Amino acid sequence: MSWPSNRPSHASLSRDEIDHLNARFAESDHMLGIQVTDSFEPFNQMNDMFTRAFWDETVRSEDTDSFFDSYRMGFAPRRGEGFSQKDFALRNAAWAISDIISNRGVAAGRREGFQASIENDTQVATEKVTVDDPAAEAAEIKRLARLFGADLVGITTLDLRWHYSAAVDTRDMTPRSNDLPEGITSVIVMGHAMDADLVDTYPSALAGASTGLEYSHEAAIAIQLATYIRNLGYEAIASMNDTALVIPYAIKAGLGEYGRNQMVITPEFGPRVRFSKIFTSLPLRSDVPKPLGIKQYCELCTRCAEACPPKALPFGEGESEPRNRSTIAGVKKWSADCEKCFSYWAKLKTDCAICMRVCPFNRRYQSFADRLFRRLATSRFRHLALWWVERRGTPARSKPKDWWARMRTR
Ligand code: SF4
Ligand code: SF4
Repeated sequence: MSWPSNRPSHASLSRDEIDHLNARFAESDHMLGIQVTDSFEPFNQMNDMFTRAFWDETVRSEDTDSFFDSYRMGFAPRRGEGFSQKDFALRNAAWAISDIISNRGVAAGRREGFQASIENDTQVATEKVTVDDPAAEAAEIKRLARLFGADLVGITTLDLRWHYSAAVDTRDMTPRSNDLPEGITSVIVMGHAMDADLVDTYPSALAGASTGLEYSHEAAIAIQLATYIRNLGYEAIASMNDTALVIPYAIKAGLGEYGRNQMVITPEFGPRVRFSKIFTSLPLRSDVPKPLGIKQYCELCTRCAEACPPKALPFGEGESEPRNRSTIAGVKKWSADCEKCFSYWAKLKTDCAICMRVCPFNRRYQSFADRLFRRLATSRFRHLALWWVERRGTPARSKPKDWWARMRTR
């Protein structure tokens, strides 16, 4: 069965279509270490934790309401080191550009970048630039993505298995269709490195600025690159967390490998990266997944699972049985218990990424020791790398007050 090019790229896949995609991408799934089973179903965005916190009474609580409220300072945040008004103020300021984008479609129920793709401000040019060489075009697009500010860029083929079976109308938190325009063939995936010093202060409201900063950066960068492509005469839809799961796309685009902490672990920044994407009809050569050996290291290491306060991460092998409705069904992988994870975030009134901070791949990679660790950890000497990091112990959280003190002397 082939995918008709005039069919809208929406995600209401039949069983036959899923089987076809499983067969078509079997080789790249294998390289990714992804096992899609017969019980696979595309994920419905109504079931992600942030959406459930609005419609699911088993999730919604005073804590979840005040978590969201704290992003507008509507809730007096918890006081204490790393959770002062200044810490929340910096976090909220870091989110400001992303918030402007996601709030502009509120009246239409479109929370852009999260529960809806980013609305285009530019029409597709009527005249198309000719693309004779998709490999050269891909190399140029990657250079331009970096010019706009992306730290990592990869390209992969559209794979509708990872698209949400429904998006969310945020006016009343009901499902709505998740269509893309006709003719989309490729996905450009961009990585945005988070500030290492801020990440070192997780958990704190201050650390949440590292997340907000990259959402704001990625909104701008994805819009700019999509605008460029639309001016070339091709379709381009800028996307953040909306439309499709970004993790399988980032791995398919060769940007990293899936870790026990549910994050993409990249060779350049470890797990300290956020991802955005652009769905496009521009002819581009795809990259291939690049398994590095990180999965094998994660099979030996449980540091993230041990450090997780609500014990939301698994210690054993990956499983395909969903832990609850917020896990995609039918994919054998390490999955967090998102209900436990989000209830911890709600208590903190900010995001948590302890499992990112403590991961031994979370390094600057500027020193010889950091590069040696990566070399050993992704080779047959991974036991030696594990022994080395265990001997040094789990790095302590940096104190937010020290971060502020350094800021004053910069
Ligand atoms: S983000 Fe925090 S609560 Fe969630 S899995 Fe990671 S360490 Fe656990
Ligand atoms: S902390 Fe260890 S197990 Fe967890 S993601 Fe990092 S390397 Fe893998």
